[in-house]
Amino acid sequence: MRILVIEDEPKIAQAVKRGLELKGFAVDVVYDADTGLAYASDPDYDAIVLDRMLPGSMDGVKLCQKLRSDDISTPIIMLTARGTIGDRVEGLNSGADDYLVKPFSFDELTARVRALLRRPPVQVGTSLKLADLTLDTGSYEVRRGEQPIKLSHKEFTLLEYLMHHPGQVITKDMIISHVWDQDADILPNTIEVYIGYLRNKIDRPFPKSEALLQTVRGFGYKLSTG
Ligand code: CA
Repeated sequence: MRILVIEDEPKIAQAVKRGLELKGFAVDVVYDADTGLAYASDPDYDAIVLDRMLPGSMDGVKLCQKLRSDDISTPIIMLTARGTIGDRVEGLNSGADDYLVKPFSFDELTARVRALLRRPPVQVGTSLKLADLTLDTGSYEVRRGEQPIKLSHKEFTLLEYLMHHPGQVITKDMIISHVWDQDADILPNTIEVYIGYLRNKIDRPFPKSEALLQTVRGFGYKLSTG
């Protein structure tokens, strides 16, 4: 899952980036509203963390309104130093999906980002489920049936992305855009390698269950049953 952070205070921006990256997200940071607007128009972002007070031609509230009026529906969490009811309502009315008052804990930020990412697909609690494969975005546990599966950060993020799009063909470019940040120098070969790692962990050890991670020749990959 790839997150855009729009925050003008470098210390906070970098801390948010590091904190989210530690949880397995790919994170890009921009420091003003105008650059934020340009980046946020990219459909590859799965969520946006937006500071309310920003330099540039608009503040976070105006930026949020502009994005929504441009039909950009990426989930947005607004950050603010102010916590009065009026400010919260203004943030939410501008089209933000959630609101977090500074100073906040990274655990709370991560939990709220996760909650936003959980909205569209069918998900019970914090778990994503496909056949007997489950991925818990709260505890970071992955299981096939009762059998726990140990994944690296990137493997987990890749599987989480695929599980958000069950039955859809996902291209290598889509994977690169959603699982790595823009500074990562990732070649399509690298994706094949990671898909191989994942297959060796979620499918190969379970010959009695059906293989879920399928290669769609010439297009990409599909996580599906049948
Ligand atoms: Ca600010």
